Amino acid sequence: MNTTVSRMQLLRGNFTGGKDVLRPPWAVDEESFLDGCTRCDVCRDHCPTNIIVAGSGGFPIVDFSNGECTFCGDCGNHCEPGVLSSSARENGDRPWAYLARFTRACLNRLGILCRGCGDHCIAGAIRFRPVLGGALMPTVASDRCTGCGACHAPCPVGAIEIGRF
Ligand code: SF4
Ligand code: SF4
Ligand code: SF4
Repeated sequence: MNTTVSRMQLLRGNFTGGKDVLRPPWAVDEESFLDGCTRCDVCRDHCPTNIIVAGSGGFPIVDFSNGECTFCGDCGNHCEPGVLSSSARENGDRPWAYLARFTRACLNRLGILCRGCGDHCIAGAIRFRPVLGGALMPTVASDRCTGCGACHAPCPVGAIEIGRF
């Protein structure tokens, strides 16, 4: 891909909807990713949880409404250009810098008791803490959260975002 197209894609990706573009785990930096990814869809075909979908320009992104990342590495193992770095995974590098965060839509903020997200977090990163007024609000421990996205889909009001916060 030439540099002009690469920069256009970079811009389009970074500002779509004002949200982060979530690439599959162990993706190289965004510019290298856009330069190297051939949009072959092989990563999509190998993801057992079907969270890899086609994003802007056909480049793969992660959609946690379909499920969570198990960090199995199958996407990177089959990525021929190596833009999902299997060596980074083998080195034990973090798969990404994504974290969960709660928005104001959380039912607990409205006084409706809900613990759904906490029940799905196997990392134990979600804690419920009392806030002013007595409600128990969920919080995310950033040192425990892997950004796996398992808490996102079960939330009945879509109150959990996953991104770089
Ligand atoms: S397998 Fe690699 S090159 Fe193919 S679409 Fe996925 S990230 Fe791009
Ligand atoms: S690591 Fe596994 S579960 Fe996660 S996106 Fe890649 S193939 Fe899917
Ligand atoms: S993204 Fe994963 S690790 Fe982080 S809070 Fe949600 S379920 Fe827990």
